[in-house]
Amino acid sequence: MKTLNITLVEDEPGDASLIQYSLRFSGYDHNLEWVQSLAELSAHQRQTNAAADIVLLDLNLPDSTGIDTVTRCKSLVPDTPIVVLTGHDNMDFSLKVLEAGAQDYLVKSGLEGDALIRAMRYAIERHQMECRLQRSEELMTAAIEGGNLGVWDWNLKSGECDKSDLLLATLGFTRGDSELEPDSEPLIKRIHEDDAPGFHGALQAYLAGESPRFQCEFRLQHKDGHWPWHFISGHVVSWDGDEPERLVGIQQDITARKAMETRLRDLAMHDELTGLLNRRSFIQEMDREYGRVMRRPDYPVGLLMLDIDHFKRVNDSYGHAVGDVVLKAFADCIDRQLRENDVFGRLSGEEFAVLLPETDRDGVARVAEKLRSAIEGLETRTGNAGIHITTSIGAAGLHRDDERPDEALVLADQALYQAKHMGRNRVVIYSDTQVPGQPDPSFPESENAL
Ligand code: GH3
Ligand code: MG
Ligand code: MG
Repeated sequence: MKTLNITLVEDEPGDASLIQYSLRFSGYDHNLEWVQSLAELSAHQRQTNAAADIVLLDLNLPDSTGIDTVTRCKSLVPDTPIVVLTGHDNMDFSLKVLEAGAQDYLVKSGLEGDALIRAMRYAIERHQMECRLQRSEELMTAAIEGGNLGVWDWNLKSGECDKSDLLLATLGFTRGDSELEPDSEPLIKRIHEDDAPGFHGALQAYLAGESPRFQCEFRLQHKDGHWPWHFISGHVVSWDGDEPERLVGIQQDITARKAMETRLRDLAMHDELTGLLNRRSFIQEMDREYGRVMRRPDYPVGLLMLDIDHFKRVNDSYGHAVGDVVLKAFADCIDRQLRENDVFGRLSGEEFAVLLPETDRDGVARVAEKLRSAIEGLETRTGNAGIHITTSIGAAGLHRDDERPDEALVLADQALYQAKHMGRNRVVIYSDTQVPGQPDPSFPESENAL
């Protein structure tokens, strides 16, 4: 065990000898420095750099008496635990000694070496724990204040919930606000109805031991009616038998983070130039439509692939920047022709695709022709020039027996290739026979008749 460095503050040589004797007799490895007053303690502190592990303090010294001795000693050695030694045993007095900052209180009469060492070791451990606790409280306060966190303390039995001023402020309230009566009521009824199941689900899962913490994100109605997003995290701090009693935690307004997330998700899903769905999101949408096709045999979905004709010439003649303007104009023109349910995406450079839900073969042919003709009529102005483009379109349908999730894309691409081959600026609908203009046998027969 580590050597115990003790400073004894005692003016009675007899008492000091007794303590020295008790300690020596205990057999524990220790160093004892003996000073006879607070002034000597102060001088000793200045001389030695290393602080003692513990101070044994007599209360009646030449330069100080009573509780005051503890207070003054504490200010001289603020980081060292103090054990008070006194001649009389008195409960009230010992409490005052502890309140003044001592770790423990021992009566000199009947003092044994073992008990003294034990008391000192406990005092040191307790002091270290208090220091750690204080440090963790300081860190917690810094985190709560720096992180702009609201704090709550919710009694699950009584239903009462204490909320910090900051938490109330994020919702536009101040303590004692008449609209928030009683102050101690939890804010549950202000949770957005769409988020309430998630909130209660997370709480139940936590209380059932299925998650390590109670955490969730939800909207809470602000006093002025709007719905800021909140993040909550908490855990049970006291139990009544097996029943959770008190839940405490933090709450943070995460509206800005949510907006950023939405923006990032939006950026990740869309093509920057045209704002259309990018290839990945388009394929996801197609996957969703395949799901519907699987569930409903009579649900026809068409797919168009569009590729601008000789687009390289636009770039070569006017430059890439104008090419971009033309691409954007192309996307806007197609978008204007489509219904709300249609899904329009940019698959790559000048290659686009459209999903046409609930559209049979004739419908697909009609839409494709409408799009082709709209692009033919489109003029993009740049300086004095008007740029005209055309597009080739390949079409196919989504079918339950398609073997690959992108089968319709492959077939529409084949039809597109054929449209290019046949001279561009035209629509080709995929059919097994590859005869343009013939009904696509893979579209539902009944729909063909529509
Ligand atoms: P085709 O009729 O056979 O489709 O001929 P094309 O010239 O359109 O086809 P090709 O595939 O040879 O060329 C496509 C061109 O599209 C080449 C490429 O530089 C251009 N392109 C692809 N992405 C962009 C873009 O984002 N902006 C611009 N300005 N041009 C692009
Ligand atoms: Mg191309
Ligand atoms: Mg092209």
